[in-house]
Amino acid sequence: MKDKDKRQTGFANVKIFDTTLRDGEQSPGMSMNLKEKIEMAKQLERMGVDIIEAGFAISSPGDFVSVQTIASTLKNCTVAGLARAAVKDIDKAWEALKEAEDPRIHIFLATSPLHMEYKLRMTPDQVYEQAAAMTAYAKKYCANVEFSAEDATRSDIGFLAKVIEGVIAAGATAVNLPDTVGYTTPEENYRFFMNIREKAPSLNKIVISAHCHNDLGLGVANSLAAIRAGVTQVECTINGIGERAGNAAMEEIVMALYVRKEEYRAETNIITTEIARSSNLLTRITGVKVQPNKAIVGENAFAHEAGIHQHGVMQNPLTYEIMTPASIGLKESNLVLGKHSGKHAFGQRVESLGYTLSESEMITAFEKFKVLADKKKQVYDKDIEAIVAKESVQVPKTFALKNFVINSGNTITSTAAIALMRGNRQFERVAGGDGPLDAAFKAINKIVGMNLSLEDYKLNAVTEGEDAMGDALVLVKSEKSNVYSGRGLSTDITEASINAYINAVNKMYYAEGRCKSDE
Ligand code: MN
Repeated sequence: MKDKDKRQTGFANVKIFDTTLRDGEQSPGMSMNLKEKIEMAKQLERMGVDIIEAGFAISSPGDFVSVQTIASTLKNCTVAGLARAAVKDIDKAWEALKEAEDPRIHIFLATSPLHMEYKLRMTPDQVYEQAAAMTAYAKKYCANVEFSAEDATRSDIGFLAKVIEGVIAAGATAVNLPDTVGYTTPEENYRFFMNIREKAPSLNKIVISAHCHNDLGLGVANSLAAIRAGVTQVECTINGIGERAGNAAMEEIVMALYVRKEEYRAETNIITTEIARSSNLLTRITGVKVQPNKAIVGENAFAHEAGIHQHGVMQNPLTYEIMTPASIGLKESNLVLGKHSGKHAFGQRVESLGYTLSESEMITAFEKFKVLADKKKQVYDKDIEAIVAKESVQVPKTFALKNFVINSGNTITSTAAIALMRGNRQFERVAGGDGPLDAAFKAINKIVGMNLSLEDYKLNAVTEGEDAMGDALVLVKSEKSNVYSGRGLSTDITEASINAYINAVNKMYYAEGRCKSDE
């Protein structure tokens, strides 16, 4: 693997371990299909993440394949795979990871009295033995082994130190001490890491890691306290997604160190100008938006509303801005292309925005661009990103919209006639509903012959202005109770919404394998 460019500043280098695709993906409403995970992993690699946790191979065949595919795709970062401290888990993790340029087996075992007694039903001695034995077992496959003492912050410090020394003696190259339940506080976490480094001095020869959850809203603060106490790796996720209230948000940790590097004397290898794109890509894939006032990546994070602030920022941005929008990769929308732009110019623009599309994806994206350029006078970078990002995480188009007619008003029941193409066959149904979209979605349900329910619906404008594209986002629940996100783009918001619904249906067909069984 390529040596990461170490910035020669004398500051400590903190490794970023991203677990968006594991801890993040396993949280409700965040599931991603294989193509989406690969797209996300490539973006994480592009932004300079040191270690990507690709998944938990033994948890499902789908997870296994995604760990395997990500491991063999990424070349410039370490790829970690999670395993319980058990032989069959480690075997599976290694089978998925072995093609990686730089693989890491990540094993975990709980060390807190509560977890050992009620969850594991093991004595402390058994936990100690198991931790060391399984680290040694993983080490036979892989030089790079991380051990996580689950619920470390609620563990007995003497016992934890013993386990840590045991796994390091068995070959662990990184030890992670997670605040699994988001219980600790910054001051306490600082003392905890200072204390454990003293009680288990071998830690200072390997990678020491923190993994903080956000149950009390302290995930980032606890991670920064751990960095101050000398940890050399932090585990975090894009947009702070993860179990329950989520994990520490990567963009917040990275920008805190970027803005206050003198204070922390530490820095990361993250290319901060890729932050906005990473956050947007995750939102597009999962359909879950961050709150508008979310630090760093919220829609309002760089918006100045008060007149007195606006005046100050115009005179000198530093009056009210501690970092520039450009530092996280937000640019003013640039007028780049119009309806006379050719495929070559479009392709170059797509490439400069950081996307790689296959030949057929490029053709589809260009067709969409032409349609848009016809309707919209000015096509901005954001419009292009919206088209391309959607194209690059596309699933097979089992159904495609042919046409629709909707009759709606405030004194009549809405009715929708929808025609969908499935291959060469056209299917048409009419349905009534509460409002035009409800009617349209019900007509689609009739065509696919399933009772799907709409869990969430959002509509955003991609850029400003009357001719802005509508970006519709739906969450649809299948009969198997799985939830699928769908997006649709159009200058017509009804069409955008119908396309979003069809996109979710196609994802469901892709994931639940309806395409084969019902034909
Ligand atoms: Mn976790």
